[in-house]
Amino acid sequence: MNTDPTQGNFSDVLSRMEWSDVAGRIASVSDADVVRVIAKARANRRQLDADDFIVLVSEAAGSHLEEMAQLSQRFTLERFGRTISMYIPMYVSNACTNKCVYCGFNHDNPMQRTILTLDQVKAECEAIKKLGPFENLLIVSGEFPSLCGTDYFSKVLATCRPYFHNLTIEVQPMKQPQYEALVGAGLHGVVCFMETYHEPSYRECHPRGMKSIFEWRLNGYDRMGRAGLHKIGMGVLLGLQPDWRTDAAMLAIHLRYLQRKYWRTRYSINFPRMCPSESGFQPRVVVSDRQLAQLTFAFRLFDHDVDISYSTRESDDFRRHMMPLGVTSMSAGSRTEPGGYASVPDALEQFAITDNRTPDAVAADIRAGGYEPVWKDWDSVFD
Ligand code: SF4
Repeated sequence: MNTDPTQGNFSDVLSRMEWSDVAGRIASVSDADVVRVIAKARANRRQLDADDFIVLVSEAAGSHLEEMAQLSQRFTLERFGRTISMYIPMYVSNACTNKCVYCGFNHDNPMQRTILTLDQVKAECEAIKKLGPFENLLIVSGEFPSLCGTDYFSKVLATCRPYFHNLTIEVQPMKQPQYEALVGAGLHGVVCFMETYHEPSYRECHPRGMKSIFEWRLNGYDRMGRAGLHKIGMGVLLGLQPDWRTDAAMLAIHLRYLQRKYWRTRYSINFPRMCPSESGFQPRVVVSDRQLAQLTFAFRLFDHDVDISYSTRESDDFRRHMMPLGVTSMSAGSRTEPGGYASVPDALEQFAITDNRTPDAVAADIRAGGYEPVWKDWDSVFD
């Protein structure tokens, strides 16, 4: 693996792998393989490698959930203590040039488009601060670079900066100099979902716009790493294509590649389960609670340090149950439409929220479980 940060991209690594080969290896995992990898994790408590992850994400490992849960809980406690980092998303735009078949914001949907002005962004910040003591803000937008590009996001960051110490964006993939400019403007992290590593499904689900270029998105993480971002968030959408286990294995391989190459950066992962959207998309596989738990444990055993995030797409019950078992960050009080906090919106949500509790109620629940909600884990003085 090339670990020179100035050289190569993950597409070089992926081009040397066959999806069917990884899928076949996952399908052929035996019970003895699972016992061996769990024993390895327990005995030396070192982080595992990608071959071990392939074993832990297999169907065979589904019968060892209890042992995996215990180890996941232990490693998470050792690394993170009894804490859950709190964040909140702020949608600044639903304008988008892409046509993702599963998203209500897609270009062909004849809906009213909104791009928040800086005054509206300020009003959103003030409304969020009344909801709870959030310091981690995730700024989200559709992908419309000519209207929402580096210049717009620099101004949005400057507007949000007095209210929040930690600013992350989830917007279109950018060029390295654009990321560098935003880091200079106070950007801390970038979240970008690869959606799926299965290229034929990717192309089918993203037929138009910059997002249709698989390699542009895939190599965006290398551009983020080279730009020196403090934190990179990654993930796949569970349900975009049927074989979620192989997608998860590809995500694990990608994560380990980035960690070796851009070792100063911290990483987070999130794997939302898809639900039917405004555009009529039906998930191509339904991942059960048990399977999502297995995926979470597999990632924690694979990597003790990675931040594992559960959003309000998941139910309050499931988030409560998973809190001590590997999850390290949660959103609360989320709205997924631009202007959703300061005004009573008539705009379309990007996806439906399942956990509708207030931030106070989520925080109280976390405390009741013996954990501490952490609102601030970064100070802008470090920038
Ligand atoms: S998922 Fe993102 S890029 Fe795709 S249509 Fe929706 S907002 Fe646009």
